[in-house]
Amino acid sequence: MMAEGILSAVQLPGESPRYELADKQHHHHFHCRGCGKVFDINKCVTDFAEMRPPGFSLERHEVTLYGLCSACLEDH
Ligand SMILES: [Zn+2]
Ligand SMILES: [Zn+2]
Repeated sequence: MMAEGILSAVQLPGESPRYELADKQHHHHFHCRGCGKVFDINKCVTDFAEMRPPGFSLERHEVTLYGLCSACLEDH
C-alpha cells in the first residue's frame, strides 16, 4: 500500500491506518461516529504554534474532529 510513496498513512486513534494520496493539500479529517466515515476538511486553524512548549520547533500537526455528519444527523 505504501508503494512509490504515492500514499501516506492516516492514523486515527483506535483505528487501523487509512491511506490516501500524499500529494493532497494540507487538510484534516472529520470522523463521523454514526456511519464511521472519515471526511476530508480542507480547512485549518493556524495557531497551533502557540500550543508548542517553549523552545520547541513545530513541524506538523494532525487534527481529527469527531461528531455526526449531516446524513447521520438527518437520520435522528
Ligand atoms: Zn455519518
Ligand atoms: Zn492543519
